[in-house]
Amino acid sequence: MSGSDNDTFQNGSALYLSCGLCCDGVLHSHVPLLPEEIDRAGQQGLSPFARGERYVFLQPCPCYNGTECSIYSKRPNACHAYQCKLLKKYTQGTIGLEESTKLVRTVKHLVLALQTQSGTTSHSKRIWQQIEEYMQDKGGGTAEFRQAYPEFMMDLAMLRVLCKRHFQSRIEQDKDVTG
Ligand code: SF4
Repeated sequence: MSGSDNDTFQNGSALYLSCGLCCDGVLHSHVPLLPEEIDRAGQQGLSPFARGERYVFLQPCPCYNGTECSIYSKRPNACHAYQCKLLKKYTQGTIGLEESTKLVRTVKHLVLALQTQSGTTSHSKRIWQQIEEYMQDKGGGTAEFRQAYPEFMMDLAMLRVLCKRHFQSRIEQDKDVTG
């Protein structure tokens, strides 16, 4: 392992910069804010709102520009502290950058494939909401739907498995980044 590889394993920045799944709504539905972060989050365009006893903002995050966080140095504490299962393994050195980025690419490819197949290209809704709306519209969940759209069902099953297995996401639940 080279010196630069060591640096990369320690801070995870190389993987983070190729991912964004914890910002684009694939892994989480919302992010909690500390009380002292609420005003600044509003100024940053995160649209915080009260949810139970705390404030949150929704994902997909409006500050994610498709490749990186546009407020990275001033991102909320929960974003700063969060590490998915894959990032933890990567920073511990138990999985390499090539294998990690391949997993991320596969997940992104599946998301795009599902959006293409369902004709849903919204960047403001979580992929899971897009899929749910599409399936409701088409009578998804029935045997007829599964027979008519086998590729869609296969991609959806694969996406669920990868998100749960490698990112430890409970995607169908209303799950935030603090776990
Ligand atoms: S504020 Fe930045 S790090 Fe946090 S969810 Fe948004 S894009 Fe991601």
